[in-house]
Amino acid sequence: MGKYDRIKRYTKDPESGCWVWYGAEKVWYEGRMWYPTTLLWTLIKKEPVGPGMILRQLCATPSCVNPDHRERVPKDSPIQPYRWGSRR
Ligand SMILES: [Zn+2]
Repeated sequence: MGKYDRIKRYTKDPESGCWVWYGAEKVWYEGRMWYPTTLLWTLIKKEPVGPGMILRQLCATPSCVNPDHRERVPKDSPIQPYRWGSRR
């Protein structure tokens, strides 16, 4: 099993550009558990989300993990962050 297999559990939707996650709610990677959105942001943007920050979702696909569909904002930002597992 390749190093990145566990984080390649998404399919790319050509219409929306969304990366639709179908893996577990959390994934084990390099010695800790991650939310897929946080892990993909960290690996692809090559920077940590950071303490007190969250990734606000910019698209309408609940399970999307595309880092380009997120923006990093302070946790106390007025708009509620997307929570994993919620449905609209
Ligand atoms: Zn998306």
